[in-house]
Amino acid sequence: MKFGTKAIHAGVKPDPSTGAVMTPIYQTSTYAQQSPGEHQGYEYARTQNPTRSVLEKNLAGLENGTYGIAYGSGLAAMDAVLKLLNPGDEIVSTNDLYGGSYRLMTAVYERYGIKSHFINLKDHDSLREHLTDKTKLLWVETPTNPMLNVVDIEAVCQIAREKGIMSCVDNTFASPYLQNPLDLGADIVLHSATKYLGGHSDVVLGALVTNSASLAEQFYFFQNAVGAVPGPQDCFLVLRGTKTLHLRVERSCQNAAKIADALKQNDKVANVYYPGFSDHPGHAIAKKQMRYFGGMVSFDLKADRFEQAKQVLSNTEVFTLAESLGGVESLIGHPASMTHASIPREKRIAVGLTDSLIRLSVGVEDADDLIADLQSALQKG
Ligand SMILES: *Cc1c(COP(=O)(O)O)cnc(C)c1O
Repeated sequence: MKFGTKAIHAGVKPDPSTGAVMTPIYQTSTYAQQSPGEHQGYEYARTQNPTRSVLEKNLAGLENGTYGIAYGSGLAAMDAVLKLLNPGDEIVSTNDLYGGSYRLMTAVYERYGIKSHFINLKDHDSLREHLTDKTKLLWVETPTNPMLNVVDIEAVCQIAREKGIMSCVDNTFASPYLQNPLDLGADIVLHSATKYLGGHSDVVLGALVTNSASLAEQFYFFQNAVGAVPGPQDCFLVLRGTKTLHLRVERSCQNAAKIADALKQNDKVANVYYPGFSDHPGHAIAKKQMRYFGGMVSFDLKADRFEQAKQVLSNTEVFTLAESLGGVESLIGHPASMTHASIPREKRIAVGLTDSLIRLSVGVEDADDLIADLQSALQKG
C-alpha cells in the first residue's frame, strides 16, 4: 500500500461491535468479564483501550513498523525509551536537540546515573570517538530545531549498529510522510503526535514505533507499569489527524519552499535556513532520505537585534506567535527568547541561533497570503 492509502486505512477497520466506520472513542476505564479472568482481551484501560490500539496500529503502518506504542505525550514516549537504560549507561545525541528532550536527559536521567553527550552528528568521526562501551543509545533528531541541520540517518544508525548500540530517531519534525527512519536502519522511531500527526493543534500525544518484538514488549510493559497513557479522546483526535497527514504535509512543504524563496529576496533578511535550498549543507542528504524538504523555515535579520525581531513577531496577522509546530495554521516563534531561552547566549550564537533568529512552522493556508504577511511584518520591523 502507498502512503495516502495507509494514512486512511492502516490499522483501521469498521468497529466490530456496530460497524461504525470511524473508530469509536471507548471512554471506559474497565471492561466486563464473563467469569473471573475470562474476557475479550480488555481488562483495564491503562493496560488496553480499543481506540488506542487502532491508533497504535495506524502509526505503526505509517512508519513501516510492526509495533506502535502510544503515550500521553512525546516526552512520555521518550521517557519509556530512556527507561531501557541502567545506571552507568550513556547516551550520545545531537548538539541541537529539542529543548524538552535535552531537559529530560540532563535534569532527570543524570540523577539516575545516565549521562548524555551532545555532539555534532554530522561529524561521523566524532560520533565514532564518542561511542564507548558505556554507550547504550544513540538519539537522533533530523531536521533539527531551529537550525534545520540534517543528519544522515542511515550512516549514523549503521555506525551505532556496528557497535551493538541501539538507535532512536525523533521523527517529529519530518513526519512519517517525509521520512521513515526504520527503513534507514533505526531501531526505534519517536513521534510527538502533538505536531504533524495530530496536525490541528488540539491534542498532546506521543508514540514509539519499532520492528523489534523484544523492544515492543518492554514499551508495552512501561505503558502499563508506569501509566503514561493517552486518553481515548486524544487517540481519536490523532487518528482523525493522520487521515489527512499526506495532504497537509504536502501543502506545508510547498508553502515552505515558496516562503523560503521570498525571504531570500527580502533585503531585511540575512540568512534563510531551509534544507530545500541547493546550497544548504544538508541538501543532498535531505534529498536522499526525505520525500520533500519539510514545512519548517528559519531566518534571521540583517539588523540582528532582539528588538528588531520582536517588531516582526508582533506584526504578523496570519502567522500566530506561539510555540509548537506542525498544525494547519502557520506559527511564528523566536527561539532565543522562547524555546531555547535556557541555552547560554554564546552557546546558541555559536550554532547560528542569533538574537534575531525567527522560526516558522508553515501551515496549509494560501502561500500568497503567508508571504504578504511576512513581507508586511518585515517592512514594519
Ligand atoms: C514537541 C516535541 C517533542 C515533545 O513532544 P510533546 O508531545 O510536547 O511531549 C519531542 N521532540 C520534538 C522534535 C518536538 O518538536
